[in-house]
Amino acid sequence: MTARMAERDYYKVLGVPRDADRKAIKDAYHRLAMQWHPDRNSSPEAEGRFKEIAKAYAVLSDPKKRASYDAHGFEGVAHFSPDELYRGVDLGSLFGDLGFGFGPGGQSIFDRFFGGPRAPGRGADLQVRLDVPLERIATGGKETVHVSRPVACGKCHGHGTRSGQPPPVCEACGGTGHKVVTRQADGKDHREIHFQQILRCTKCDGAGTIIDKSCTKCGGTGQVEKVETLKVKIPAGIEDGMVLRVAGHGLPGAAGEAPGDLHVAVFTSPDARFQRRDADLWRGITIDVADAVLGTQVQVPTLSGEVEVKVPAGTQPNEVLRLRGQGLPRLGTADRGDLKLRVQVHVPTEPSADERNLYERLQGLRRRT
Ligand SMILES: [Zn+2]
Ligand SMILES: [Zn+2]
Repeated sequence: MTARMAERDYYKVLGVPRDADRKAIKDAYHRLAMQWHPDRNSSPEAEGRFKEIAKAYAVLSDPKKRASYDAHGFEGVAHFSPDELYRGVDLGSLFGDLGFGFGPGGQSIFDRFFGGPRAPGRGADLQVRLDVPLERIATGGKETVHVSRPVACGKCHGHGTRSGQPPPVCEACGGTGHKVVTRQADGKDHREIHFQQILRCTKCDGAGTIIDKSCTKCGGTGQVEKVETLKVKIPAGIEDGMVLRVAGHGLPGAAGEAPGDLHVAVFTSPDARFQRRDADLWRGITIDVADAVLGTQVQVPTLSGEVEVKVPAGTQPNEVLRLRGQGLPRLGTADRGDLKLRVQVHVPTEPSADERNLYERLQGLRRRT
């Protein structure tokens, strides 16, 4: 009996006929992926549907895997590891088209939804992204991560059936999902040749079992998404794209196996006040022409509150004022980066009559010197 009892036929998943060409398969996938992507679709079954669609596409878009599936059903592709199934499949560019992904340094969509390659003897690793505000990066400390993972459906005990009992074995194939038929043909000298052909069981569509009525909670997949809330420790000064590993919080392994790990990819949350560049923070300030000439004081925010900053006389446009040690800690050191203020000088475009008068006097003075 196959372990993938409740899996739906890949052609049905994509809603294409069995003789669909590659373009029709790709178009169907693209349309359904847009519809069911969990970033766009908030219904609880979205992630399950999305994975189902991606898997169907991974098989049917590859001529070899498709042929194997056509001939032997789910068993024809059961020996592929997730890695073999998805790597090399053109999922990436489609996700690019859809505008999803984590950007440079981030985890790919593939890793997010399908986990890393499965290490032997344990469950697959799971990846999530965590955006951390600057204040937390400055001090270090705990942040909350929400991880959604498939678990066996409690209502049907993972069987996918409405009764909650294991689905009955298909009588037509005895649970194998295929039928072996012996055919005859005429060989040389009119001797009969017998050969065997393996056909997918049409009664159960290769599943080996028949679910008459599927579970109302999981829709027959036997799995539901469960959101787990975890605290992870953020080291002060963690850099963009660094990955924290939380052992044992990945996907469950097969019976008797250890679960995989959770990988948390950390990114700096966008901040309206500062831009992060490594351990330094940057901010623009704008001062008046007269202030640039004569010097002034300005109030600027820092991660530890507002401070007064002296702008010296004669400050030039684009000059950078440095507040030493007001940046972020450098990971693993006692060092801190700086807060850097890039000075813009505001040149009035509509000076008042009085201002204009003064500027004209200034102009006259500077010509004489
Ligand atoms: Zn059958
Ligand atoms: Zn269920």
